[in-house]
Formats: sequence, C-alpha cells, structure tokens
Amino acid sequence: MHHTLIIVGGGPAGLTAGLYAARARMDHLLIEKGAEGGQVLLTDWIDNYPGFPEGISGFELAERMTAQAKRFELNSMFGNVVSMDLSAPLKRLELDNGDSLSCNALIICTGARPRALGVPGEKEFVGKGVSYCATCDAPFYRNLHVAVVGGGNTAVQEAGHLTKFADKVTVIHRRDELRATKIVQEKAFANKKIDFIWNSTVTGIEGKDGVEQLRLLDTSGKESTLNVEGIFVLIGVLPNNEMLPLTDLKADEGGFIPTDCETRTAIPGVMAAGDIRSKEVRQVVNAAGEGATAVLAAENYLTNLS
Ligand code: NAP
Repeated sequence: MHHTLIIVGGGPAGLTAGLYAARARMDHLLIEKGAEGGQVLLTDWIDNYPGFPEGISGFELAERMTAQAKRFELNSMFGNVVSMDLSAPLKRLELDNGDSLSCNALIICTGARPRALGVPGEKEFVGKGVSYCATCDAPFYRNLHVAVVGGGNTAVQEAGHLTKFADKVTVIHRRDELRATKIVQEKAFANKKIDFIWNSTVTGIEGKDGVEQLRLLDTSGKESTLNVEGIFVLIGVLPNNEMLPLTDLKADEGGFIPTDCETRTAIPGVMAAGDIRSKEVRQVVNAAGEGATAVLAAENYLTNLS
C-alpha cells in the first residue's frame, strides 16, 4: 500500500501531524501500535497545555486530540512498524505482520518510553511493587508507603499524584537539587505526605512476594535501607528508535533524531517530531507544535519534488 505521507506514532506530535495532514487533504496514513495518545496516557494531570485553564487529564487530552483529527477524516491504522528503508526517495516500511508500506514523505513521531534503573530486583518485581507509571498504578498503593526515584518533572509531579492514595511518598534523588520546574517543586515541598532523601541512589530492590525494602547508597558512600511497599521509577526517557535506520538519520549519542528547526532530518523527505527528536524540552505543547511544523515541511518537500 502506498501513501504520499506516512506518520509513524500517535502521541501528541503524531496526532497533530495527522490533524494538519487531514485538513490539508493530503493522501496520508497514521500508524499507531497501541492506544492513541502515547506517553500523555501515563500522565495523571496536565496543567500547562494552553486552552485548559483548569488543567486536563492526560487521558482526556489524548481523546480530544484524537477526536479532533478524526473530525477531519484522519486516516489511521493500528500497526507495529519494525523496520524502515529510507535510502531511496520512495520510503519503505515493514510491519510486524509482514505487510509493506511505502510513502514519499515520512514523519517519525515514535516518542520515548520510561528509563529503567537497572538494579537487582527491579525486573523481578515489575507489577509487584515496581512501577514506571504512577497514573496507572497509584490506586494499588492506598494507605501504603511508596518511593519515587527521580528529580525531574515527572517524578516530582507524580509524587503529588501518589499522595492521593499512599500514606507517605518518599522521593529519592541522586543530587541535592531537583530538576523539576519551580512551581512543581513548590507544590511538592508544601505537601506534608512527601519527604525527600537527597544525594542517594537505589542499588537494590528486595522483598518476598512483593517489594518490601530498598537498598540505598548516598554520595558519601553510606549504605542504608528504606522499607516501602512500592517504588515508582521516574528517571527520564529512552527513545523508541528500534525500527529506525539510526546511522542514516545521524542519531545522537542517546539515540534521538536530530532535525533542523523545521523538523527535517538528515534524510530528505523524512521529518521527526515530538520526544524522538534530539532536544532539551519534552513537553506536550512543543510535541504538538513540531507535528504541525513537520506536515508543513513535508508539503514543501513534496511540492519541490513535483
Ligand atoms: P528528566 O527531566 O530527564 O529527569 C530525569 C530525572 O531522573 C533527573 O532528576 C535525573 O537526575 C534522574 N535520573 C536519571 N537517571 C537516573 C538514574 N539512573 N538514577 C537515578 N536518577 C536518575 O525526565 P522526566 O522527568 O521524565 O521528564 C522528561 C521530559 O518531560 C522533560 O523534558 C520534562 O520537562 C518533561 N515533562 C514535563 C512536565 C510538565 O511540564 N509538567 C511533566 C512531566 C514531564 P539529575 O537531575 O541528577 O540528572
């Protein structure tokens, strides 16, 4: 099957690209392998997406973005892209069911996923006390003590969400200063259910049938333990790039895709938008903006081709 434009990924970047492509009446297809919304679905509450003065849940924002794109006849399908050949002007994509697709222009919006700690016990206790998504799992920790690892916006914001259920939330951060935005920090510092362990890393996760204790190591070399029933690992993201030709796309050290300010990658006709891009700021609002920019860049590319 051939389309003029294919968009891979249906998070905020992909859905906005889909909205713009559908409104431009381009022959397009958006491919998403799970539920539309991407990482937004893992976020409990979004207070900094413009147009929602009271804030909006991640789930509802994803639903609204999807509905808006569908109003303009977004053409989308569920599918898992496993490889791409972008070496020729006609770009080819392979799906895990063996189907092949081709397109003239491609927008990569495959996003990112949570990073793991990589310590003993982590894999063993996934679903039994180890979680990477507070929105998904917070209700399981009603009246319990949980730890959150990380000092970024995700960790500090989701620590607040966890206090709706847990009795106590201990944020463990490897430095003595949080990376999260000041307003997010202020809220956490004012929350009596949240306490902090600074300058410390988790070196092991232990328990019998579920998580019971964490092994900690502080920067002075002192070891200690912390009794908790759950641990939320919220320490940043890794790129969803397994299906991408990384050398041709000149991926950065972390595996993210560099682009110019118009979202154009090193390969003509291939744009990248959202969290898969090599960049500092990973927000819903700039992912959406990049999705729109990418379609305009694709239109320019296609116009210059003909
Ligand atoms: P992030 O900003 O990259 O923060 C990751 C945090 O985890 C940092 O505090 C980092 O410590 C720590 N960390 C990394 N590797 C670690 C390890 N192996 N062990 C212990 N700690 C480790 O990631 P994020 O919080 O997931 O946010 C990702 C992006 O989404 C960011 O751009 C963020 O601003 C954005 N976001 C925004 C909002 C919002 O605006 N409300 C909400 C959520 C996410 P160091 O600080 O020492 O590096």
